[in-house]
Formats: sequence, C-alpha cells, structure tokens
Amino acid sequence: MIDRGEVTRHCDGLRAGDRRTLAKTITLLESRRPDHAALGQAVLEELAPHSGGAVRLGITGTPGVGKSTFIEALGMHLIALGKRLAVLAVDPSSPRSGGSILGDKTRMERLAQQPNAFIRPSPSGGSLGGVAHRTRETLLLCEAAGFDVVIVETVGVGQSEVSVASMVDCFAVLLQPGAGDELQGMKKGVLELADALVVNKADGEQRDAARRAQIAYRHALSLLRAGSPHWIPPVLLASAVTGDGIAAFWEEVLRHRSALAAAGELSARRSAQARAWMWSLVEESLQASFRTHPGVAGALPALEGEVAAGRITPGSAARSLLEIFRKP
Ligand code: GDP
Repeated sequence: MIDRGEVTRHCDGLRAGDRRTLAKTITLLESRRPDHAALGQAVLEELAPHSGGAVRLGITGTPGVGKSTFIEALGMHLIALGKRLAVLAVDPSSPRSGGSILGDKTRMERLAQQPNAFIRPSPSGGSLGGVAHRTRETLLLCEAAGFDVVIVETVGVGQSEVSVASMVDCFAVLLQPGAGDELQGMKKGVLELADALVVNKADGEQRDAARRAQIAYRHALSLLRAGSPHWIPPVLLASAVTGDGIAAFWEEVLRHRSALAAAGELSARRSAQARAWMWSLVEESLQASFRTHPGVAGALPALEGEVAAGRITPGSAARSLLEIFRKP
C-alpha cells in the first residue's frame, strides 16, 4: 500500500525546489526495497506533468580530460546567469563506495556549495541499463524541482556515452589537445553522437596544440555523415581553468537548442527517446520475468550447457525455453 500522504509530501517538497526532498526521492527510486521503490515511482508519476522544462546537456570525455573542472566552471557561469543547475552522473563501472572513475567526494567543491546547484553521483552498481534508467528518472525529478539545466556526465569509455546521448538534448564531447593520438583511439561512434566538440585545456603551453586539434577534429567531423540536417556540430576551444570559452560553449548549447526547436527536431528527439526508453523498460522487465520463471530457471542450466557444448543449437534451446515460459 502506498502512503498517499507521503507521496504528497515528497511532491510538495520537490515542487518547492527543496534539495533534501529531491535527494530523498532519488534514494527511494534507487532503493532495492520494493516499498521504497514503489513510493519513489508514485512520486515520479505524480510529478511527470511537471517535467520536461530543463536544458538537458550530456558531457563526456576520457578520464583526465577535465570534465569535472569544466562542469564546475560551466556551472558557476550558469549560476551567475541566475540558473539552477543539477549535475548527474552515469558511471556503471563501480559501486558508489569508492573506486568510481567519476569519483564524487572531492569533485566540484565550489559548485557543491552553491544553493542553486544540486550534484548527485551515479547510482551505484548494476547494469548500465539499470544505472541509465535511474538517471533518467532523476533527470525528470530535477525538472519537476525546477532546475533550468540538467547536466549528465559520463566517462568516455564503453557504452555509457550512447545511453547518455539518448537522454539529453545536446551531447558534448570534451577532448584533449594533442588530437593526433586521440583521433586514432577515439571511437568514431562517439564523434557521431556529438552535437558539440570542445578541445579543453586550450591554455598556456597547450594552446597551440589545442588549435591544431581543433582543425583536425573539424576535418574529422566533416568526413562523418551529419546527425541532423539542421545542425553542424562546432569544434570549440575552452579552458576550464581560466574560464575562456565557457560562456561561448553555453551560447552554442543554446544556439543548438534554437536550431533544433525551430525545425521541430527537439520535441521529435525527446519523443523518440521516450519511446526507446519505454521499450527498454519493457525488455528489461520481460527478461527479468523470464529468468525468474520457475520452469525456465529450472531448465536453463542444462540447456545452456548443451548449447555451450554444441550438442543443441542456440535456436532450438531458445525455442524450448520460450515454450516453457509461455505455458500457462
Ligand atoms: P575528469 O577526470 O575528466 O573529470 O578531469 P578533471 O576535471 O579531474 O581534470 C583532470 C586534470 O586536468 C586536473 O589536474 C585539472 O586541474 C586539469 N584540467 C582540467 N581542465 C583544465 C584546463 O582547462 N586547463 C588545464 N591546464 N588543466 C586542466
């Protein structure tokens, strides 16, 4: 039984922009306790009509490129503009208790002290899919709590960029000066997802290298097919340390937004993302019911063994399992 009074209390606190209520609701959504999770979901349902109002910005880059320094500089700029800002992270690599690539405690200390900023580390552990779902839900809650900008940060390794790109309006990739090496190692797929590239650390001795990298990335991008007919991803220079290029980056985010909105692409992108999210929830839930189905669970080890040993085909094993699953 869901306590409607509790739901209302959470909703009221969230709508008033109270960060503690926001943090508590996120904890409910992330909880493994079914009653807590259900309460969190009830709050989310109730608040859904109030979501959608933020600029959703994804930021990725390899460890050490300067993501947290950049986000802090950008965040302080946004706060100076009078904005309220939430920073979320998708880091499926490790549990919250230490060892996380995106670490959390010592990052963005200045930003963390701002009353208009809310910083939340990645949901702990679990599959990338699970972490991404929780983060999407948190994003919606932040919007309902009136945040103007939600930044979702992820490390530039593996599949997490794809899942962050699929929850934001604008996806930015931070790059190191010294593009030669990086272009080699850079996955083409990540460049294709980018709405903007930023060569960070364009300061001091690295300024020239950053300019060369900018030219190289412009060239690399020109060889890729365009993601949108209404937008050519810019390659910008910035220094998260001096603050150069931070304001210009934010201007580009807004220019991107206007270009997409004018073409109807912004709402189309969000609709497509929502549909894809629904399907991935359906798939996740179906798979969970499948694996926990007593008949399936019973037959699975033997069938898997047979498939691994090459004694039966994967197709035939799948058919047998599905038959067991569908039996009334
Ligand atoms: P993250 O791992 O991507 O979050 O990177 P950090 O923000 O922790 O930065 C990694 C290192 O690069 C730190 O020592 C920063 O001080 C440094 N750094 C970040 N941005 C800049 C920049 O714009 N210029 C210079 N020179 N150093 C930077």
